[in-house]
Amino acid sequence: MEQVRAKKFLGQHFLTDEGIAERIARSLTGRTECLLEIGPGMGVLTKYLVDDARYRFKAIELDTESVDYLHRHYPTLDVIEGDFLRLDLNRIFDDATFSIIGNFPYNISSQILFRVFEQRNSVPEVVGMFQKEVAERVAAGPGSKTYGILSVLLSAFYNIEYLFTVHENVFNPPPKVKSAVIRLTRNDVAKLDCDEKLFVQVVKTGFNQRRKTLRNALKPLNLPLDAVPDDLLAKRAEQLSVADFTLITNNLSVAADSAATDLQSDAN
Ligand code: SAH
Repeated sequence: MEQVRAKKFLGQHFLTDEGIAERIARSLTGRTECLLEIGPGMGVLTKYLVDDARYRFKAIELDTESVDYLHRHYPTLDVIEGDFLRLDLNRIFDDATFSIIGNFPYNISSQILFRVFEQRNSVPEVVGMFQKEVAERVAAGPGSKTYGILSVLLSAFYNIEYLFTVHENVFNPPPKVKSAVIRLTRNDVAKLDCDEKLFVQVVKTGFNQRRKTLRNALKPLNLPLDAVPDDLLAKRAEQLSVADFTLITNNLSVAADSAATDLQSDAN
């Protein structure tokens, strides 16, 4: 295959191994009827999805040349020309839930995953390829050096599986790093047992200075940390589970509420 001139800002690395494309397509468990592919490019993965009768299938692609190519080669494909990050996700399938698949544009991997987190009640499953390092980070558990914000936020609502590693030489042009395919399937947690907004803030702030203990890392929150048990404050964010973060969030909410009540009664 001729070396394609990839548009760098689009994170274009076209997969050339059809066996791997088929394996990615087969990794879907079919949790929902609607399926969205992000960044189909020249359609190597699309080919295994577009005629699958189980799915109402759409794709979103930012690159005009790729969109033209897809129109020519897959005339039945419903391809939206645009940026996934700006797409109104509730409108593509008229409010129905939908799964996401793709060999994703690596330059926006984290943004795609944060969007999945935000849309967790609309997205029951994600199967796709990321840089290996991102895939490992998402799939990591507490205690691991790669465990971070996305691992905590996503594992609160998804079961995360690292499926397989993909070598850089099966792409055109080859990326600098290895890739990996992961699967996220929504768990049955409808809502966390705490203030979810504060939970996200606690996780983000905790990891912002990941080498510090929480006692120091959480200071910028300006909340009464005394309410949190000492043994948790002595740990670093990377050592804590979703349950630990939930507990800390609850400790902080209760303390913040009573501080507010005290202030109010002082004022009265
Ligand atoms: N899935 C194809 C292409 C992977 S490269 C394959 O496996 O060969 C990533 C693709 O995502 C490119 O086609 C690129 O044009 C597209 N892309 C990049 N940014 C995007 C965005 N914000 N929204 C939708 N597609 C995007």
